[in-house]
Formats: sequence, C-alpha cells, structure tokens
Amino acid sequence: MKRLHFYLLFLLLVPFNINAETRLPVVSIIIDDLGQDLQAAQQVIDLPGSVVSAVLPNTKHAQQVAFLTHYSGKEVILHQPMQSVAGNRLGGGAIVLDMTRQQVWKTLESNLNKIPFAVGMNHHMGSLISQHPGHMSWIMEYLKQRSDLFYIDSRTTKETVAQQLASEVGVRNTRRNVFLDHDVTEQAISYQLHRMIRLARRDGSAVAIGHPFPETISVLRREIPHFAEYGVRLVPVSEVIALRNGEKSRVVEVAGKAK
Ligand SMILES: [Zn+2]
Repeated sequence: MKRLHFYLLFLLLVPFNINAETRLPVVSIIIDDLGQDLQAAQQVIDLPGSVVSAVLPNTKHAQQVAFLTHYSGKEVILHQPMQSVAGNRLGGGAIVLDMTRQQVWKTLESNLNKIPFAVGMNHHMGSLISQHPGHMSWIMEYLKQRSDLFYIDSRTTKETVAQQLASEVGVRNTRRNVFLDHDVTEQAISYQLHRMIRLARRDGSAVAIGHPFPETISVLRREIPHFAEYGVRLVPVSEVIALRNGEKSRVVEVAGKAK
C-alpha cells in the first residue's frame, strides 16, 4: 500500500515539475560584436546554455563564428552596423543615412550572405538610423521577404522607431531590456545580470545584450549554471519573441483544435 502511495505521488509530481520548469520566466542573452577575435567568440559559444551570437559582417572570422554557433545548437544573428548620431566608426557593411532603398537592400543581402544560418538581426551603434522611419521600413521590408528574419531593437537611442516599423511591416521583433557591460567590471556586470533576472521575474521575460569582454564571459560562466535557482530559464532569443508575441498560445490553440 505504501508503495502504491509513492507511485501515485510520483505520477503527480513528475508532470508538475516539468510544468514548473517550462513555466519559469525566461531570459535571453545576446553577445554583440563577434567575428574579429575567434578565441573570444569560441569562449562565448562554449558558455553553458543558449547564449546568442551577434556577428559583425565585415570581420575576419564572421562566417566561421556563424558556423560554430549554429553547429553548437545556438542562435546566430547579424549584428548590422548602422550610423550613429555621434558618428562612431562603423567598419564595413554599414547602413548610413545617404543610402537609397536599393543600397540598403544590397548591403543587407551582402551582410546576410556572410552570416550563414542567421535567424535575425540587431544593430551595432545605429542611434541615427534607428530614428529614421524611411530607412527602418526598408530594412524591415528586406527582412520580411528574406525568409522571415526577426529584428531585436538594441535600443541605442530612446527615439528608436525600429519596433514600430517592424510591427507595421509584419516582422517579428522584440527589444533589449538590459546592457550587461556598459561598466566593464565584474561587479557591475553581475549587478546588471541580476537586474535582468529581476525584470524577467516581474515581467515574464528579459533580453540582455553584452560584449565579448573577459569580465562579461567570466560572470556569465559563473552565473548561468545558477539560473534555475534564481527562478529563470535561459532560452534562445527567438523563444522570447514567440512568448512576447503570444505565438506559443496560438500554437497550443491550433494543436488543441486539430485533436
Ligand atoms: Zn555592437
């Protein structure tokens, strides 16, 4: 009889635990500016969990980093250089204000061809371009017709219209909530990481962007294995987009109807 009780208890607990795990608030972490330093990129790819690689197109190891990321089962996105208000140096493949629609599309095409398996993009710098509805709508039109890539608004300016234009054109999109390493000390990075976790626990999800600094990699290597204890789950950024846009519930609904 006792054994039966245990068995029933087991049956009750197992599905409950699986649900509890999948219902945890989710976080996603994107590491920008990859492609120049192969060793740093490899350290990012080797982090435990689904950390996303954002690769600069005109860098020495762009293609290799994209391959390595994809074949380790993680998501890779194009880190598109875009003109900033301050006029920061952008490297090759940048989108600037005096480009025509045709030039913007050509630039995106050439950049995406350098990042195999890219499932979406975010922007590098871009505080000027991301305020411009014209250029942003051209970018979104391109993403829409090219295998439905998504857009993560890096939010390098409060005036950004990236998400608004993405939604108007019908491109899946979401935004960055936290920058992990504006201040490149392990203490500050750890503080921002826990801020990301608090936001996720409050709102259900949070997206953070960091850079391949040794300090950032070290904090992530130490902290990611504890995410379940902190009550969050690290997921690919596409999963956050699906969750925020209610795609999950739609999938469940359709599956339910099919029965
Ligand atoms: Zn960047």
